[in-house]
Amino acid sequence: MTKETKIAEDFESLGLAAPLLQAISDTGYTAPTPIQAQAIPIALTGIDLMAGAQTGTGKTAAFTLPILNSLLPMASTSTSPAKHPVRALILAPTRELAIQVEENIKTYAKNTNLRSLCVFGGVDIRKQTPALKTGVEVLVATPGRLLDHVEQKTVQLNQVRFLVLDEADRMLDMGFMPDLKRILALLPKKRQTLMFSATFSKEIKKLSDEFLSNPALIEVARSNATNDNVQQKAYAVAQKDKEPLLAQLLKEDAEKQVIVFTKTKLTANRLSRALVRDGIAADAIHGDKTQKERIAALDAFKEGSVKALVATDVAARGLDISDLPMVINYEIPSAPEDYVHRIGRTGRAGASGVAISLVSEDEEKYFEEIEKLIKKKVAREKTKVSHSKHKAPRSKSQTSAKKSQKSNDPFFYEPYVASKNDNASKKEPRSTRSNRKAPVAALLGGLKKR
Ligand code: AMP
Repeated sequence: MTKETKIAEDFESLGLAAPLLQAISDTGYTAPTPIQAQAIPIALTGIDLMAGAQTGTGKTAAFTLPILNSLLPMASTSTSPAKHPVRALILAPTRELAIQVEENIKTYAKNTNLRSLCVFGGVDIRKQTPALKTGVEVLVATPGRLLDHVEQKTVQLNQVRFLVLDEADRMLDMGFMPDLKRILALLPKKRQTLMFSATFSKEIKKLSDEFLSNPALIEVARSNATNDNVQQKAYAVAQKDKEPLLAQLLKEDAEKQVIVFTKTKLTANRLSRALVRDGIAADAIHGDKTQKERIAALDAFKEGSVKALVATDVAARGLDISDLPMVINYEIPSAPEDYVHRIGRTGRAGASGVAISLVSEDEEKYFEEIEKLIKKKVAREKTKVSHSKHKAPRSKSQTSAKKSQKSNDPFFYEPYVASKNDNASKKEPRSTRSNRKAPVAALLGGLKKR
């Protein structure tokens, strides 16, 4: 048992009010996670907090519960919007994460009169305005869309008392720093700021120095990179053999649902199409998909009709999918911390998980960087790949059979066109750039000895 879990072994001793404790009990959680046990008492004192924790640690409740608790005295039954100003602002890098955070808030606030709302880009801004105008105490937003609302004067931020920067490292990766500065300049100086980040890079320290005031610092010792319940495997495989090997692995573990990671949206699309042609229920989720398409793919995955969800790093960040037994790295990320985020999708809450990486010769150098970060060697296995039924997507030497398949499938003869109505897609390439210099950031907890 870690030191942190001894701090508080039940929610009752954390100092939360009865309506919140009831909601927590209804979710079935019996004990706080380490990040909750550490962060909640500190956040309740009102001081700023810089917390190192990634998705899967229970970090969302670690900031939503103390904020809701502090807002309880201001909850109002009045229908007047003036009685429901935005008092807590939570900024998140992606729409998926923002949606999930707000779902959490709704769950925990269900026995209170506190209202919440989520606003994000890629959808008609006018549809968000009426709900904003009725007044909400807790607003979850992606930075760009929040600024759109500020410009349209559909939101007032002058009563914000609580600010959360969720997945702050990812927000920086996605180029949100200028937006964050603009937003922060609009907030009252007297506020409590809580920042959550999976990594503690120099940039994150700078951000913390700029936006937080004497923050308490906490780290959690959970990282799947050092977590023995995630079995890490790697195959040394030629690039051209990756797609048949993937199909082989998916068929071997037919009952398991898998997130397959690619570096680019283009590969995600092509791969999911190739898998579908191979008889595997697959779909892709990335920044060029419309919001509707992403939600549909995620719902299909959650209900089990999609077996393999092919995802880019940004799209997969913050997806709250519990009990995922396996992730496959179809392409090795050039930033080693992305590997840790990826495999953090499996082996949650003590369940066992498998993370398989398909490593081509070109990617060896990236995988070695990963091994340095996680302080673990992952043996490269070799396996026989059967090409009989599988065709690699867009192989250079296309046979006539492939050509006939190609002529039947517009995907192969029409150029790839990104959907234009998706604001988030413009942001995605920044963090999925394959050639950016991999920062060997110290992963909180990931490097800690247990
Ligand atoms: P998060 O890191 O906030 O994305 O949470 C990861 C997962 O853990 C989510 O599915 C939460 O519903 C779940 N979770 C959060 N707190 C607890 C808890 N105290 N006990 C068990 N599961 C939890």
